[in-house]
Amino acid sequence: MPDLEKTLQDLQEQGLLRQRRLLESAQGPEVTIDGRTMLAFCSNDYLGLAAHPAVTEAMTDAAAIHGVGAGASHMVCGHHDLHHQLEQALAAHTGREAALLFSTGYMANLGVISALAGRNDVVLEDRLNHASLIDGARIAGARLKRYAHADHNSLEEALNTGQRHALVATDGVFSMDGDLAPLDGIAALCHDHGVPLMVDDAHGIGVLGQMGAGITEIRQMSSKEVPILVGTLGKALGVSGAFVAGSRVLIDYLIQKARTYIYTTAMPPALAAATLKSLNICRDEYWRRERLAKLVAWFRDEAGALGYDLMPSWTPIQPLVTGSCESAMAVSAALARRDILVPAIRPPTVPEGSARLRFTFSASHTDEHMEQLLEALAAARSETGIL
Ligand code: PMP
Repeated sequence: MPDLEKTLQDLQEQGLLRQRRLLESAQGPEVTIDGRTMLAFCSNDYLGLAAHPAVTEAMTDAAAIHGVGAGASHMVCGHHDLHHQLEQALAAHTGREAALLFSTGYMANLGVISALAGRNDVVLEDRLNHASLIDGARIAGARLKRYAHADHNSLEEALNTGQRHALVATDGVFSMDGDLAPLDGIAALCHDHGVPLMVDDAHGIGVLGQMGAGITEIRQMSSKEVPILVGTLGKALGVSGAFVAGSRVLIDYLIQKARTYIYTTAMPPALAAATLKSLNICRDEYWRRERLAKLVAWFRDEAGALGYDLMPSWTPIQPLVTGSCESAMAVSAALARRDILVPAIRPPTVPEGSARLRFTFSASHTDEHMEQLLEALAAARSETGIL
């Protein structure tokens, strides 16, 4: 066992100790923390559905009828009609034959990769993939090879080594940079080499596309190009859980082989009811995606005019890389003094030397919220001198 106290002390000294904040309100643009109201620009509730009255009502109504707990795993007696309805709705939403619910995105990625790859396989992943995709390859016991971020030439080189590749896996929208995977090139390479492509679109579902079906909607990619599509339900859809969508045979196989599906309690049916409602709102209310696009453009223009050097992202994930942990924490603290909540993101969540503030936007942010953020950013710049 590691020396626990020393580890914690070291993390503290390196400025890497992670701190939790106690939220006392619902999720939303304005949150209460330690009795203080702050404006949050850091949640993944992109469409503003996490506390939407109709979604909340769908959950409480379903809980009143079906109770709180699923009681068992899907394979024993926990698979509820509401899960089934949600799986069908998610399959239809993403244009796939079938979908399978998981309790979290983390578990979906572990379950899928470890079911599809084994000890003699190589799994190829983008260097900036989410931790759950990396861990999936690790628990599969596969050899993990990482190609340069969003670089299909680097992927091509890796594919040309003649090894047996079980899978190529990439985030659709990169969670810490906000940019999109170059899916056209990646899908073409996977097709040429006969390697299945897995896309984790946790941050694209609900956000990208006319219908909010994510990166495969804007790139018009069916199961043929992207046979394994993962989406999460706790971000734009505002609830909790995840799904894998693909062919009927893929889903039937995962039901038999994905250990994080088989050996865990099913998500509460009321969560499935809430997600069915939020999925409808997501699809029907395009204005939420339009509003997001407007906020992103506004933020980029104004923060750029203040001299802030933003990354090339057009999604609601807008990172401001300051470099050192100290500088990221100094800007975060300067914003917090002005009641703006944007925690610093530090290694190992992001690569060494690229600590950052990860601003995220929600359709429920008002113009006044944006003005308050931009004023605070101007003040933080004068106060810290950090851009
Ligand atoms: N994939 C990506 C790209 C993510 O950003 C996240 C969450 N941060 C996950 C998977 C995990 O999803 P969940 O929070 O549902 O476990």
